[in-house]
Amino acid sequence: MPEIFINGQAIEADANLTVMQVAAAHGHFIPYFCWHPQLSTAGNCRMCLVEVEGRGLDIACNMPVSAGMKVFTESDEVKAHRKAILQFITLNHPVDCGICDKAGECSLQDYHYTYNGAASTSRDEKVQSTKFYNLSNRILLDNERCILCLRCTRFTHEISKSMALGVERRGDVSNIRPVEDRPLSEDPYSDNIIDICPVGALLSRQFLHKSRVWYLKPTPSVCPGCSRGCTINIWHRKPEWFVKSLDQAQNTSIARVTPLENPAVNGPWICNKGRDLAQILERTRAGEPMLKGRPVTVAAAIEEARRLIGAARHPLALVSNWGSNEELDAFKQYLGEVFHSFVKTDWQPEQGERIEDDLLIRADKNPNTTKARSLFHAGAPAYNDGTDLVLVWGEGASFASIPAKAKIIFLNSFLAPENGHADVFIPVSTQTERSGHYTNFAGVVSGFEPCFPKQATVTDAEVLFKALAAPARGHP
Ligand code: SF4
Ligand code: SF4
Repeated sequence: MPEIFINGQAIEADANLTVMQVAAAHGHFIPYFCWHPQLSTAGNCRMCLVEVEGRGLDIACNMPVSAGMKVFTESDEVKAHRKAILQFITLNHPVDCGICDKAGECSLQDYHYTYNGAASTSRDEKVQSTKFYNLSNRILLDNERCILCLRCTRFTHEISKSMALGVERRGDVSNIRPVEDRPLSEDPYSDNIIDICPVGALLSRQFLHKSRVWYLKPTPSVCPGCSRGCTINIWHRKPEWFVKSLDQAQNTSIARVTPLENPAVNGPWICNKGRDLAQILERTRAGEPMLKGRPVTVAAAIEEARRLIGAARHPLALVSNWGSNEELDAFKQYLGEVFHSFVKTDWQPEQGERIEDDLLIRADKNPNTTKARSLFHAGAPAYNDGTDLVLVWGEGASFASIPAKAKIIFLNSFLAPENGHADVFIPVSTQTERSGHYTNFAGVVSGFEPCFPKQATVTDAEVLFKALAAPARGHP
């Protein structure tokens, strides 16, 4: 391993790494815009210039290490050039941070204050360009804010492979534009370019002007959209910024979803379905326990369910593959010997949805089939003439195929016609209201934390299974 020196520190460097990578690994931060660890090196922003003794200035992102090289990341010359580069990059930038969704997490904003801080030296009018160009049905492009780092085009060429973006024209009229016959709308990973854009040029239509990012906090979670189980951050309003007189639902709503980098599962990416989790988790909730459609208290619903379980001779359960590891273990522990249990497929692929690919998306659109199948039967439910009670946990069951004489206990989080038809209906919490873990298709276990409180009439399935077990064990 060649020995190099960064700011005087002797480092045994991996010969396959660049100066940028070695410096980052040893605590010498070098600013950059266009470089990204998962993309090819473009070297166009020039922000990562460092000084090498005897060689002058060069970009660290494309500089291989060589024995004995002496690198300086904070010399006077480096600082002067960084400042000049920031002057150049902001030459035509509108600096409209006050209305930009990226404000608060923008590299250009941060670098300006860290490495420049001076007003523009230009006396020329800024070159104007397209504001709010429709890049796709999900993404707007502000060409005036774009610094042409080409991260977005490289993402579509190298990661999602949609080849949907390119650069049109040259010089100060260069623009990122969609490639005509390759619509970005058909790229199921398109929203990753919003995250990796170092400035506020790429804007999520979903999140547009919805919130300043400093009003929000991220809660680590797992996307339940397929058996990949991507690690994500669910962003929601900080309690100290709760709105009181506006729409209070904002306090308990998902504001946005972003990837939480996890090399073992999804790297730094997620697909657009993960971004749209609110469409799944914020459907109209079921809040009232019911007996044959008649609202009752939670205690009354549990009592009736216990009675039905105690009276049943051949009870069968359809177990949710959206249940957490903890819930599935609880079902096994408390009710596993009572019910003949089968894993139900809660969600099927939807029309137009990408079924599977080589990047992240898996054909199984459920988060915890692996764990569920390790505990319960995988095949179709074996109803027979004697089946006198069916416990349905979660969505996706065909009620028409349940024997007509069987009683039904139904546990669901969302409003559905079946809720009122069940002999006992008990609303259960969603993933954003409890903590837990899922086991993905490859056996990797990932955890999620609660974002919002649940209603008093909603029960956690894990708690419920224990409560339902008493009659089954002969202790009503
Ligand atoms: S839109 Fe953003 S990611 Fe794309 S080139 Fe411009 S600054 Fe870079
Ligand atoms: S690949 Fe699957 S788990 Fe990952 S974000 Fe998309 S739907 Fe969610």
